[in-house]
Amino acid sequence: MTTETNALTSEDKTTITDTTTKKTAATRILSNYVGGRWVSAQASGLLDVTNPASGEVLARVPLSGIADVEGAVAAASAALPDWRGRSIGERTEFIYALREKFRQRIDELAASVTRESGKVLSDARAEITRSIEVLEVACAAPMTMQGRILEGVARGINTETIRQPIGVCAAITPFNFPAMVPMWFLPFAIVCGNTFVLKPSEQVPLTSELMFHIFEEVGLPRGVVNLVHGAHDAVNAILDSPGIRAVSFVGSVNTAKYIYRRAAENGKRVQALGGAKNYMIVMPDAVVDKTVSNVLGSAFGNAGQRCMAGSVLVTVGSAQAAIMGRLKEGAEKLIAGDGMDAKVSLGPVISSAACERIHEAIESGLKEGAELLVDGRRPTGVPAGGNFVGPTILNNVTPEMRVCREEIFGPVLSVMHVDTLDQAIALVNSDPRGNGTSIFTENGAAVREYSRRIEVGMVGVNIGVAASPAYFPFSGWKDSFFGDLHVHGWDAVEFFTRKKTVTSRYFSAGETGKFFVEQGDKH
Ligand code: NAD
Repeated sequence: MTTETNALTSEDKTTITDTTTKKTAATRILSNYVGGRWVSAQASGLLDVTNPASGEVLARVPLSGIADVEGAVAAASAALPDWRGRSIGERTEFIYALREKFRQRIDELAASVTRESGKVLSDARAEITRSIEVLEVACAAPMTMQGRILEGVARGINTETIRQPIGVCAAITPFNFPAMVPMWFLPFAIVCGNTFVLKPSEQVPLTSELMFHIFEEVGLPRGVVNLVHGAHDAVNAILDSPGIRAVSFVGSVNTAKYIYRRAAENGKRVQALGGAKNYMIVMPDAVVDKTVSNVLGSAFGNAGQRCMAGSVLVTVGSAQAAIMGRLKEGAEKLIAGDGMDAKVSLGPVISSAACERIHEAIESGLKEGAELLVDGRRPTGVPAGGNFVGPTILNNVTPEMRVCREEIFGPVLSVMHVDTLDQAIALVNSDPRGNGTSIFTENGAAVREYSRRIEVGMVGVNIGVAASPAYFPFSGWKDSFFGDLHVHGWDAVEFFTRKKTVTSRYFSAGETGKFFVEQGDKH
């Protein structure tokens, strides 16, 4: 990705000379979507958006600043009174319409995800399916947004709690799920009566652009959803904007900590999801074939760039002998290449910088004494210009090695061996992150023990990627989550509404309690 300082006064289609690569390309500059209109950003610079499989420049994304964010916040604030004043049925109708559009255009959306993020098409389709699931759960708002009422807190007096929208909400999202992560928030936020500003990852802004065209097609009123492209400046403007009441963030641990602190200091409600290091425990009685295929899918799916990727495998006792050979064999069969190609099982990583970082991590593992069981450092048969790392397995990793301490976020599986379940639990609990974990066994007692004692928010039993469905919370722990209310499930309604408690009586109605006393058993 290259940077260029440039005021955006040009039209959307512009011929640009890239000063870094000396390439000339007819490259589209992306627009923000504010108040129902596509507008040029008043940006301080541009970044290339590239196809990670080929290096082709797909578009240029503007680095919006305070003025752009404040424009979007003003549009969202202006839209708020009408939007929150509409009936819940009317708002839900838009979510139904979006669900239909996403189903109709799933191939187009999936192709966009693959083109800009590199993941294989089947993974991209699964991502859109997950986004559709969120839309479906948001359609339950007429039930889930209900409050509570208690008759007779005193004679003739009732108290009720109602849920109201909080105002303008914003989300800041990562590169690895260009559709799904923005859709974790947007449907719940707007169905609850809030208006919304999205700042997608500057590395994958194109799928957001496509989704906003769909929001426009279903006729969402102007200003209900707004799109601001950019990076740090746009994020800081969101965190500091007095008009934004709640911030949802997904990204790496350090950014999550920063976002949580700065947004909270500014009095906002925050949910900030951080990075992960997910351990997969294989017990001696695990079903070998199915365990190995789940472990491979978890470690190498989406080229390891999932916050729920199993990045550390821990064998317990004789499980080591049972699975290591099969694991090596399975990893070596994976085919790296362009995610658009149906025979490919491992796409590129997001950028050349990510590629370099992953190579450095592998080298550090080797220097620190790990054994290279499967070497993906120089994958063959991959397209030129892409950011490819083949499946890599480092064996005999120890907790103090960098590959264990840091999130590699690439197709690299670290393997450790212990003798007992107790040792495995101690290992997992010593990690500062706690997003997901899996245990492979047919032993219910081991599962119960593991699920009860493990300090991780999402646990899979014989499931490699135990990402919660949209009707449950996506409930990471420790450094993988900063906040109180998680993403989707019941937590989403809690996050995107605030409770108001009304206590009431009517002097003309008499005292209900007295009436019952006087009428006795008749009532
Ligand atoms: P990132 O933290 O680099 O970026 C995420 C967002 O924050 C982007 O929109 C980016 O523009 C912005 N940003 C980055 N650094 C910033 C800074 N210093 N100041 C202000 N804004 C900043 O993350 P990424 O590389 O896009 O995504 C990968 C990370 O996200 C991984 O660590 C992964 O584990 C994590 N992730 C976590 C979950 C989860 O549910 N916990 C889900 C998906 C991804």
